[in-house]
Amino acid sequence: MGSSSLGDLHFLCFQHHGEMLAKTTEPVVYACQKPGCLVHYENTRGYFLDTTDPVTLKQEILPRVSCPTDGQPMYLAEVQPERRNFRLWKCPKCGATLTNEESTVGRKMGAGDPLS
Ligand SMILES: [Zn+2]
Ligand SMILES: [Zn+2]
Repeated sequence: MGSSSLGDLHFLCFQHHGEMLAKTTEPVVYACQKPGCLVHYENTRGYFLDTTDPVTLKQEILPRVSCPTDGQPMYLAEVQPERRNFRLWKCPKCGATLTNEESTVGRKMGAGDPLS
């Protein structure tokens, strides 16, 4: 609540690393600008694909990085072209950051996620 500086956030598509733009406002959903890309991001859900096609949904592995402080789904905020594996994740709620060089991100996602 209150005045966090949402204007400064850069949501990157986890596939193309291009900046995503707000597509709707209530709730705010960010969409990748690459034609044909289904990657979207919403604060409460994290990354999701804008499709109901089960085949596509099955093929695509969504990153599930959550904030160690408040459990909020984090978004990809920065990549470094010269370091292929580098990812900087950021929490939209408290601004905490995490890189995949810290242990939590590298963990396999999937079963047993206590969220939701
Ligand atoms: Zn994309
Ligand atoms: Zn947080």
